[in-house]
Amino acid sequence: MKKNDILQRFLFDGTDIRGEIVTLETSYQTIVGKHNYPPSVAELFGEFIAAASLLSATLKFPGIISIQARGDGPLSTVMAECAAGTQLRGIVRGDLPAAGNVSSLQDMLGSGTLAITIEPEDGERYQGIVPMESGSLSQCLEFYFQQSEQLPTKLRLSANPELAAGILVQQMPRTGDSAKNISDWETVSALLETIKPEEQLSLSHNDQLYLLFHEEEVRLFEPQYLQFFCSCSKQRTESALINLGITEMRNIIEEQGRVLITCQFCDEEYCFNKEHIESLFNSPEATLH
Ligand SMILES: [Zn+2]
Repeated sequence: MKKNDILQRFLFDGTDIRGEIVTLETSYQTIVGKHNYPPSVAELFGEFIAAASLLSATLKFPGIISIQARGDGPLSTVMAECAAGTQLRGIVRGDLPAAGNVSSLQDMLGSGTLAITIEPEDGERYQGIVPMESGSLSQCLEFYFQQSEQLPTKLRLSANPELAAGILVQQMPRTGDSAKNISDWETVSALLETIKPEEQLSLSHNDQLYLLFHEEEVRLFEPQYLQFFCSCSKQRTESALINLGITEMRNIIEEQGRVLITCQFCDEEYCFNKEHIESLFNSPEATLH
């Protein structure tokens, strides 16, 4: 079952270029299936979830990385997140049928911004924001790496109803701009651009790398397995309710007899009755707010 939810690192021997390649099947289909996204919306989301997997592999520390696009088109939000390098979740919001009739990033999301948020397990949250002006998600992310990290990066993302796939190459921070470094990067990044979506969605990682880079010395590392996993919990929901305040909670109890929270990522329902809400606000955690 996990066969097609894999991420692999690769390195070019004798250069300072690294790569990541990912294919998602069960994890991608699980998320899309929960929300019944129209095919073109699902495919756009597939690019986001593949990108979140690739970007998570570029982190130097454990944490969560999310890619969130907000725009003024039929879709208002597309968000994908990868936690601990292996746990994927995401969501699309907006007028899904209207967005389902078009196919480009611009047509679905209109103009807006793309935010890349990194939350390290220990340390400060970081967010980089780039405009969604370029033609594709790949190009927006390449611009992000150029601007925020100053790391030359190329990536290609593809999705069909069954699979989401992505490949990334990145020039690691280097000690000097030698002519060899520059020419290595030019060769590898130009080769990466030749991959076609149908190749990404049909060939094994090994075959994709052979097709692209058979004249280079490429080393492919052991696979890492990814899966759909939602990090919501009763405890995190309680914290969110405490933040909303006792007045708001009492109003909801008054009107509806209970507080029902449905997780937007996994549809898990968390239900709280009057007694539970009152005891929440009498807990030590609540007095901190
Ligand atoms: Zn959830």
